Amino acid sequence: MSRELLIAGGGIAGLAAAIGARRAGWEARLFEQASAFSEVGAGLQLGPNATRLLREWGVLQQAQLQAFAPSLLRVRDAVDGRELGVLPLGEQAEQRYGSPYLTVHRADLHGALLRQACDAGVRLHEGVRIASARVDGTTVLARTGTGAEVEAEALAVADGVWSELRQQLVGDGPAPATGHVAYRALLPREDAPPQLKVGEVQAWLGPRMHLVTYPVRAGSAVNVVGFVEGRVAGAGWDHAAQADALRETAAGLCRALQAVVEAVPEWRLWPVHDRAPLQGPGQMARGRAALLGDAAHPMRPYLAQGAGMALEDAAGLQRVLQPCDDRVLDVPTALRRFALNRWERCARVQQRSRRNGRIFHADGLVRLGRNLALRAGGESLLDLPWLYRGG
Ligand SMILES: Cc1cc2nc3c(=O)[nH]c(=O)nc-3n(C[C@H](O)[C@H](O)[C@H](O)COP(=O)(O)OP(=O)(O)OC[C@H]3O[C@@H](n4cnc5c(N)ncnc54)[C@H](O)[C@@H]3O)c2cc1C
Repeated sequence: MSRELLIAGGGIAGLAAAIGARRAGWEARLFEQASAFSEVGAGLQLGPNATRLLREWGVLQQAQLQAFAPSLLRVRDAVDGRELGVLPLGEQAEQRYGSPYLTVHRADLHGALLRQACDAGVRLHEGVRIASARVDGTTVLARTGTGAEVEAEALAVADGVWSELRQQLVGDGPAPATGHVAYRALLPREDAPPQLKVGEVQAWLGPRMHLVTYPVRAGSAVNVVGFVEGRVAGAGWDHAAQADALRETAAGLCRALQAVVEAVPEWRLWPVHDRAPLQGPGQMARGRAALLGDAAHPMRPYLAQGAGMALEDAAGLQRVLQPCDDRVLDVPTALRRFALNRWERCARVQQRSRRNGRIFHADGLVRLGRNLALRAGGESLLDLPWLYRGG
């Protein structure tokens, strides 16, 4: 008997879940509230744990992904500009983990996933919001924004950091603001300062701020993102910004970092929200509903793994859906197994993302200690086998 997964949300988590469901032999119906499937935002780093899954699903092989393979990660102190550590990526990452470390534009990853979902036979519904869902032991009954009812055997909740469905199912309030904001920009390679044309991921760590740059779009553009602590009054979600706070912060920092900030004509501001690390499997599965991606575990982007965890969630869902036909495994048990398999790793990544923020933004003695540690053990501190080997 054919079984159907209903997916709420067509971001990276939702599209990947739909692809995974099809590969597990399920029907997949995906609802995205936006009237066109499109992804805003700038760049994403994808560790080997994420690219391994994209390769398995055929997404990595798509030309429209326009991925870039940076040769290394270089970390500097933002105050004096001195190098603190280097992690070789490129060939070394591929050899060590059997899969590359890549950088992509979010829209390109989203487009490649969308195409794969279409080819896999996912039924896509644009401009339809899932307003509510009731999940019990026997069925999922969802209601769209226009009042239509949709029934399925299981529900994937992939409606992002603002998840309304999480409020209905878990009821633990909205994801709080962290007080950190991200200023994001994309520079054509020809407009970028010379130090950004080197094909590397570069990070400058400064007091209460850090800035990261890397090539995207097959090297034709450079992604720049600066994170600054301090609440921005009335800040909305993803809007054009003057970046005064970033410029003021950069004014006291090294010349190379100032040159990067000055080279950017237009910034978009993105307030960072997260949740405390998951406490248990009950926050990732309820009856016939599984929570994935930012709906389940929104995190600070300081380990560059939010999308990576969303892709791993989808692969985890695929694994439990495969044997799930009510004779071998029933749906609530399968989804509970999914949550049991996933929650601790996601919690660890959330926790490490918060810790990285404190280390990156350190000042005074803590900054000096960080710099000493990075200079002494750079590569071994920057490499993360527990993460890149996959979950
Ligand atoms: C500045 C910044 C830098 C980052 N850098 C990295 C990085 O380098 N590497 C990395 O792996 N991650 C990174 N991330 C994190 C990553 O972007 C997110 O974790 C990931 O995009 C989450 O995907 P998602 O599908 O869970 O959520 P979203 O992308 O938010 O998608 C949710 C979708 O659901 C739709 N939706 C919402 N409600 C409903 C509803 N009721 N019905 C139907 N549809 C609905 C929305 O319109 C949206 O399309 C970064 C994040 C930020 C902010």
